[in-house]
Amino acid sequence: MTAVNLPKELLDFYRDLDNLINDYAGRITLPGMEITDAVLNRHYGEGVSLFELVQPEIDAEFCKNVFQDVCALLERRRPQVGGQLKTLTEAAEHAVVRLVSDYISGNDKNIKKLVEGSLISGMTVNFILECTARPFMQAFARLVGSCTKDEKWQRNYCPVCGSKARYGLIKQDDNKRFLQCSLCDRQWLFKRLACPNCLNEEHTTLKTIFIEETPDYQIHACEECRTYLKVFSTGEEAGNTGLKDAATVFLDIIAQQNGYVSNYFTS
Ligand SMILES: [Zn+2]
Ligand SMILES: [Zn+2]
Repeated sequence: MTAVNLPKELLDFYRDLDNLINDYAGRITLPGMEITDAVLNRHYGEGVSLFELVQPEIDAEFCKNVFQDVCALLERRRPQVGGQLKTLTEAAEHAVVRLVSDYISGNDKNIKKLVEGSLISGMTVNFILECTARPFMQAFARLVGSCTKDEKWQRNYCPVCGSKARYGLIKQDDNKRFLQCSLCDRQWLFKRLACPNCLNEEHTTLKTIFIEETPDYQIHACEECRTYLKVFSTGEEAGNTGLKDAATVFLDIIAQQNGYVSNYFTS
């Protein structure tokens, strides 16, 4: 099977977007936060993300700057999408922080209202909010990430922010599988033989699709719920999530041709 790759201009766009997000993430200093034993007991016991438990405040001005820069980059580099952004930036101008908080907590009522009132697709609005939230969430993960312990979590969503994984990684030293958060970039341990969508552990219905041309890339698929997860065992660190996801779109195409839906896009 021939690997299909995205055009260079699109990969360049994702690289620039990741650089913008990383640059903002590096500039945030969050006030110190105490993660008490009571918080950790709820975190592990009830499976509540740290973000939901400690509710850090998002700086409004900072958030607005990221939002505007993400929109400007889209306008400049993806004119077919960016040309429609004016209605969004006008409508969202005074509500960016609220929308970003809603996005992180998975509360889509206000986001849906905004989509209805603008000419932009829900997918684009969610993409922009995700990019705006990422620097803040990365900084938050840096601050509190070490409080949550891998062996005590092992759920199918991120211990720091509650988001799903866009892909997984197999660490070469111990062969364990980690999931990579799509929002805060935290990696967390997850069972090697379990579906990250429906939690099926029946090995006869869990399948690994190997790609001959790129042996370090695999697709982990589940016959029970028909979803897949892209998995890399390249040995390199995950790096920029957006670019890595875009650069491995050939895996999505192969998985979808085999009738599977991405684990990331299931609700
Ligand atoms: Zn996360
Ligand atoms: Zn499944």
